[in-house]
Amino acid sequence: MSFRLACYRCNERWGAEAPLYRCPKCEGRLSFEYSAASSDVPADGGRMWEYRALLPVMHPERAVTLGEGGTPFLPAPKLAGWLGVDRLFLKDETRNPTGTYKDRPASLAVTRALELNAPGIVVASDGNTGPATAAYSARAGLRCVLLMPGATPPFRYRQAQAFGASVALVSGTVNDCIDRAAEIAEAAGYHHTTTATIHNPYQMEAAKTIAWEMVSAWDGEAPDWVAVPVGGGGLLAGIWRGFREAMDLGRIRKAPRLLAVQAEGCAPLVTAFRDGTAISVWGAPSTVALTIGVPYPLDGDLVLQALEESDGSAVAVTDSSLTLVTRRLAELEGVLAEPTGAASVAGVLEARRQGLVEETAAVIAVITGTGMKTIELFGADGALKALPNRREAILEWLEAIR
Ligand SMILES: *Cc1c(COP(=O)(O)O)cnc(C)c1O
Repeated sequence: MSFRLACYRCNERWGAEAPLYRCPKCEGRLSFEYSAASSDVPADGGRMWEYRALLPVMHPERAVTLGEGGTPFLPAPKLAGWLGVDRLFLKDETRNPTGTYKDRPASLAVTRALELNAPGIVVASDGNTGPATAAYSARAGLRCVLLMPGATPPFRYRQAQAFGASVALVSGTVNDCIDRAAEIAEAAGYHHTTTATIHNPYQMEAAKTIAWEMVSAWDGEAPDWVAVPVGGGGLLAGIWRGFREAMDLGRIRKAPRLLAVQAEGCAPLVTAFRDGTAISVWGAPSTVALTIGVPYPLDGDLVLQALEESDGSAVAVTDSSLTLVTRRLAELEGVLAEPTGAASVAGVLEARRQGLVEETAAVIAVITGTGMKTIELFGADGALKALPNRREAILEWLEAIR
């Protein structure tokens, strides 16, 4: 089992030991080629590192791991009924160590940073990549420098601080933070783990294991659609890469169609898809789906390509729909997501409304991040009852809420 690095643009190739993050000749994005056979890839996928034959590290036995991946694949019949689709499954990525799928790319990138002898890790994040990278850096014993947009809420940077990361809030958007992080990577030789392929080609390889796990979880024919929230675009592009590999290795005959979901308050990708135009920078992102409020999706071109190849589509959803769907997901199926994490479900609702997804469809919604980080969205203090410590009072209340 081995791999090579390859440039998307000029097609140059390098061996696995090359300490590269982008093409030194043309500045293009890097991709990877594996010599794996179908028999090297588990049929009943377990955790992420069981797909090591398709991961770009030389020493998977030295993986920096916290038990990422191997997340539940849950039938969600009540939510399916509410959405008006025949079958719905949730790929529950909230169950990763720091609460989001970002633990997969963090595990892979920090493992690769160690084997390339990087002196430290730098990452830009608007909420989830930062804490994930900080956790894996702690485990690896590597210094972690994290740049977050000035408006990042405390609970997100405190999670990273808890893991010992040095956090700075930079005035500007997440795209500004990515540019500054790239400068740190260049100046200090740090491994840059931001989840944008041009800076960190390893991230898509980790995201693709979500697709592999879904392939091993569904029975027989592929579902009709897989709905995925899109910020920078690496997640959706990575999932498509996984399905492509599964087809190339003969594991599946046909891939599902991909549904890209963005918030109406920041939808550069949906706009480009709908209008057939180039992707342009979104002026002023404003959405409750904070962690996909990315003004410029650096992997947007790969997303458009994946949508074309999968015969997919793209929809934008409102904040009120995101909030409602996040609550319904929790109340009907017991899965607590942040609004970004439930955007996939809101996208299915919108796609049903537009007639894109049919009533007879089987759909998977990838639930990307936990609602524990946005807990203030749930419940209402008004619904809390203060009761005296007495049997009659408790029973009276029980009667009242029936
Ligand atoms: C990062 C993130 C996404 C989107 O991933 P991109 O690669 O930026 O498109 C979706 N959901 C959650 C919870 C995230 O943290």
